[in-house]
Amino acid sequence: MAESCIFCRILSGEIPGQFVYQDEHVAAFRDIHPVAPVHVLVVPREHVESLAKATPGQRDLLGRLLEAAAQVARQEQLADKGYRTVINTGVDSGSEVAHLHVHVLGGRQMQAMG
Ligand code: 5GP
Ligand code: ZN
Repeated sequence: MAESCIFCRILSGEIPGQFVYQDEHVAAFRDIHPVAPVHVLVVPREHVESLAKATPGQRDLLGRLLEAAAQVARQEQLADKGYRTVINTGVDSGSEVAHLHVHVLGGRQMQAMG
């Protein structure tokens, strides 16, 4: 765990999170500032700084993250109408939190990406 990392602190229970999915490797909780009716963050329990810092040894974990994102979407009744998954990486993406996470966004029509 990275002591100053807000997501590590949520995962350890130090800061409250509204969890919607948990397993041994991955957890998911609602975004504190949702930009869609459903906005969930899917994160590895292990502190991985970003997609760019993920290693070949973490290949299995990356697969688990996407599987959990699809599971969250099913749980949140998004599977039929669809949803958007987003991974921000680095400064140009506008990423705020340096702990790898997949945004699962749904419940409204998404706009074109720009
Ligand atoms: P990023 O911009 O790094 O891709 O996404 C970070 C996300 O984390 C943002 O959507 C932001 O609202 C969310 N976030 C930041 N701090 C907290 C927090 O303390 N709790 C929760 N649940 N979400 C947070
Ligand atoms: Zn972390």
